[in-house]
Amino acid sequence: MMKTVRNDFPILNTQINGRPLTYLDGAATSQKPWPVLDAVQQYYLTENANVHRGVYTLSEVATKSYEGAREKVQNFLHAPSSRNIIFTRSTTESLNWLAQAYGPTVVGQGDEILLTYLEHHSNIVPWQVLAQRVGATLKYVKLTADGQIDLADFAQQLSPKTKIVSFAHVSNVLGTEAPVKEMARLAHQVGATVVVDGAQAVAHLPVDVLDLDVDFYAFSGHKMLAPTGIGVLYGKEVLLEQMPPAQYGGEMIEEVGLQSSTYQELPWRFEAGTPNIAGAVGLGAAIDYLEHLGMAAIAAKESDLMKTAIAELSTIPGLEIYGPVDPADRHGVLSFNISGVHPHDVATILDQAGVEVRAGHHCAQPLMRYLGQAATVRASFSFYNNQEDIVRLVQALKTVKEYFPND
Ligand code: PMP
Repeated sequence: MMKTVRNDFPILNTQINGRPLTYLDGAATSQKPWPVLDAVQQYYLTENANVHRGVYTLSEVATKSYEGAREKVQNFLHAPSSRNIIFTRSTTESLNWLAQAYGPTVVGQGDEILLTYLEHHSNIVPWQVLAQRVGATLKYVKLTADGQIDLADFAQQLSPKTKIVSFAHVSNVLGTEAPVKEMARLAHQVGATVVVDGAQAVAHLPVDVLDLDVDFYAFSGHKMLAPTGIGVLYGKEVLLEQMPPAQYGGEMIEEVGLQSSTYQELPWRFEAGTPNIAGAVGLGAAIDYLEHLGMAAIAAKESDLMKTAIAELSTIPGLEIYGPVDPADRHGVLSFNISGVHPHDVATILDQAGVEVRAGHHCAQPLMRYLGQAATVRASFSFYNNQEDIVRLVQALKTVKEYFPND
């Protein structure tokens, strides 16, 4: 099945600068397979109507598809009920809603919010604004020398003042996986709420929110084969019940009076306005596709790619890899620099060869400062990449020094 998987991704047959596309930026956004593209098109061709409103058949069909997608997300995350699953626009929106609406219900003056040094800006800035609003303090957990979360430092920084801990399941720069279960256990001992940013995890490893025992879990559909503009916020029911909506308007209300209104039950209370129905349908199809391949098979394929990539890149003179060099400690992402060459120049040279990688701070400026780098090159791998992609990456990287012979 894995062998023929590339045929499902039409974009992989395109050319970039006259060369075959070598797409190594799945961490920014994944490519989309035919079943997802077809599901979105079929929805618009045969089912399009607004949801939850009409008593007519087409609206019921659209509602069934939308709510069916919610059940697929529920099963994908092993959540107890579809009431736990809120559709949002993205990870960013999920985290903002938490910080804006849930945050002030548990964080007050003098309290602490605990993050780590490897967070994406989406998991920093919303908490900064909350901390400023309520007079709380943000604290950051240190990393070990190879870029893992330092569990001892995490345990030490936790105290009864810690009201929220929020961290990435998988780092978008280093590919390292947080020990989520252990962190949740320790955080719960001091009564803190555990928020996990799953943006870089959901496409690469199985996620079981019950087993991990996290309170909230946020992710974006577009990083796991689905369209842009659809995201998810999972929350434990007791916590969602105590969280006020972040947005108000149509669809989320039960009864509207002139001075006040009552709201729908979970999860619809959080989904004001017409939702991204086609996006949810696309996400449902993406989940079907991933489950058909199996997350374990996906992880195994990506681990093979990572193994080759680390071995090959390590032979390139002047190339430094950030984070762990054991492929088992990484998911999907490989950040590096070539000494004396700006990462943007590396990415531009690679682009000439059709090799698409990201260069920059990857929306993780505190981590860049922590690594002592202004920017890095990042190659990221998905199960639809192959060994040939790595050969092309390495060939292109070997030409970089030809452009900068004196460095
Ligand atoms: N967190 C992490 C770890 C990410 O990698 C990303 C996407 N780069 C985000 C959050 C934000 O995702 P989105 O832009 O889809 O909201």
